[in-house]
Amino acid sequence: MFVSENLTVNEKGRLAIGGVDTVELAENYGTPLYVMDEQMIRKNLRRFHESMQKFYDGKGLVCYASKAFSCMEMCRIVASEGDGLDVVSIGELYTALKAGFPVEKIGFHGNNKTDEELKFAVENNVGHIIVDNISELNRLEIIAADLNKKPDILFRIKPGIDAHTHNFVKTGQIDSKFGFALETGEAFTAVKEAINCKNLNLTGLHCHIGSQIFDISPFEEAARVMLAFIAKIRNELGYEIKGLNLGGGFGIKYLNSDDPQPFENYLEKVSKVINEECERLNISRPFIYIEPGRSVAAPAGITLYTVGARKEIPDIRTYISVDGGMADSPRYILYQSQYEAIVANKASQKRSERVTIAGKCCESGDLIGENMPLQHAETGDIIAVCATGAYNYSMSSNYNRLQKPAVVFVNNGEARIAVKRETLDDIIRNDV
Ligand SMILES: *Cc1c(COP(=O)(O)O)cnc(C)c1O
Repeated sequence: MFVSENLTVNEKGRLAIGGVDTVELAENYGTPLYVMDEQMIRKNLRRFHESMQKFYDGKGLVCYASKAFSCMEMCRIVASEGDGLDVVSIGELYTALKAGFPVEKIGFHGNNKTDEELKFAVENNVGHIIVDNISELNRLEIIAADLNKKPDILFRIKPGIDAHTHNFVKTGQIDSKFGFALETGEAFTAVKEAINCKNLNLTGLHCHIGSQIFDISPFEEAARVMLAFIAKIRNELGYEIKGLNLGGGFGIKYLNSDDPQPFENYLEKVSKVINEECERLNISRPFIYIEPGRSVAAPAGITLYTVGARKEIPDIRTYISVDGGMADSPRYILYQSQYEAIVANKASQKRSERVTIAGKCCESGDLIGENMPLQHAETGDIIAVCATGAYNYSMSSNYNRLQKPAVVFVNNGEARIAVKRETLDDIIRNDV
């Protein structure tokens, strides 16, 4: 009935997530409120790592892309599932380390890592660093030598694949700020250079072709292109690349009309391609990594708001204003992303109207969505926006000096706070 399978209507006719009444969550923790369902996160991770086991003999690691949603509690949950973690900044790395995440399972990404970040990663023995460009390779070699270390590195490659997704979330084509281009020979030259770096150990290659991808064929195509490159490196340089990271980007259901693949299907189909290609090219099957972010976190989360004003503009539209907006939910203003919304205290009722849900920020584009089917909403009602677990909390801001909402985790009927709501004093804590 709802987009995410963990949402139900309870005996009071209210929306429940992970067995917890959302209206009670709003009463107990206030709104806006991010709610994450722990069991859903675990289930999504397992869909990936169990299919890695089933279709690729477990010769790989699922690395949750923590930029989708990162806090210490999330890192602990991923660690307890035995999965790995991607970080893209010293802040995400620090969060993971403070949460006690096993450092050898952390991969450090980013197209413009600073020397401070690289040094911190090498000092802390991060599992591997995904090197994006020659400047970084050269700086990392010096940093590693200074620290007398030899970190494992992967190269980020642009495989030249069109992933059929929004322009801002496409990354695999030649005109992208991420990685080394394959077509121009840039990647091959860089590999030759890396092999000669005494303080770096080139263990693998990485590609990530985009986000919210519904099709499996671009992933299959990326695997083919990358394996051909691994074969070329072996044939022409006599060097064996042992690891292949195929990135993330698996699409999820934001609306009932979205029809993503079951997550299991990716590894089933891609493993088949890898196995066939390795045999054809006569190379050993690489250790593979995948990096799901959105697909793990988004379906597990909802955001709760309280309705303030209801503004009916005859023959034009009805605005329902809520107590949050682009500061906690920036995806609409960024990409006009669509969501499903439910009046949580009227969840058993039919959606009887179409409305624009507006935020409270001083931007006309500050909307949660337009033309959204919704139950009749009035002042004081609680609205749940679904599948908001990824790229909302992590992209949130203090625009208008709004306080960032709390994050509550629910687990089989119990709720606990994972990130406290910011206080007014938090708003001015760095002001002098
Ligand atoms: C963002 C990103 C991911 C995760 O993408 P999702 O669409 O959230 O699955 C994985 N790998 C890299 C390198 C990324 O930049």
